[in-house]
Amino acid sequence: MILEIDNLVKHFPVGGGFPFGGSKGEVKAVDGVSFGIGAGETFALVGESGCGKTTIAKLILLLEKPTAGRIVFDGTDLTNLNSRQVKEYRRNAQAVFQDPYSSLNPRMKIRDILAEPIRAHQTMGRKDLERRLDEVLEIVGLPERAKRNYPHEFSGGQRQRIAVARALTLNPKFIVLDEPISALDVSIRAQILNLLEDIQKELGLTYLIIAHDLALVEHVSTTVGVMYLGNLVEIGPTAQVFDDPQHPYTQALLAAVPRPDPKHGLSEQLATGEIASALNPPSGCKFHPRCPHVMDVCSQTYPELRRIGESRAAGCHLLEEQSA
Ligand code: SF4
Repeated sequence: MILEIDNLVKHFPVGGGFPFGGSKGEVKAVDGVSFGIGAGETFALVGESGCGKTTIAKLILLLEKPTAGRIVFDGTDLTNLNSRQVKEYRRNAQAVFQDPYSSLNPRMKIRDILAEPIRAHQTMGRKDLERRLDEVLEIVGLPERAKRNYPHEFSGGQRQRIAVARALTLNPKFIVLDEPISALDVSIRAQILNLLEDIQKELGLTYLIIAHDLALVEHVSTTVGVMYLGNLVEIGPTAQVFDDPQHPYTQALLAAVPRPDPKHGLSEQLATGEIASALNPPSGCKFHPRCPHVMDVCSQTYPELRRIGESRAAGCHLLEEQSA
């Protein structure tokens, strides 16, 4: 495993506000999540907005500190790094964010945008720097002359290519792709996806993709983790999870996606109701107020993840009933 997440917790305190202050409680954004990502794999985290997937990405990128738990990258525990180790980790772990319109500084030329990570991490002569910038631009399919321009002179797809090029400048092993195509025009999404897949094969990269678009996840990921209100409720090889989802929430998510196979058409299992709040989550199984299969035990006891076969797991009391 290149990345191991072990019982990761992130709670955000919520203040009582002016004038009395105090704490009103805490948002359990990530509430005990464990999974591993193998080298060369594309692991997808999916779930509705507020499920905790973006918080996990921020914790992995060291943009937030965990409340508890461990993140281990290539054998090193990220929760206790000194500043030299943080720098080394940042060389190896890069990110591409959703919106190439806001992630590129509009006042900087592409040369400076691409050179910024290199300058922050190493000393490189001018010629070597230019050569490296030309290399990454070529990898993402942009001409060398792009260095002389500003972000506003490029289309959305080209800007996302520049964001990918910037992520590649330090030769990382691992890239977090946070909704990498959702802000782009539909007509160019496939190009960016193909580019990311080609780069992964060529450079042997590992990806963690954060996405709400299940068609995208099915297309690009090897393993998928489904999150609901801070917990992982199902995990396994993407093809198996999409073909035969075990958790009622995964079933509901997939049922809501129009797919050509009639086996996967809209079903009565579509979850109804609003997603509950991570500030005051339901007791027991957090999905129980929306679940079409809810039983008495569901509101009382949290269903731990149970292994299903060799490589899958899901957390639902129905699975315990079936194996009893
Ligand atoms: Fe539904 Fe109960 Fe399973 Fe939760 S544990 S998903 S409420 S059946």
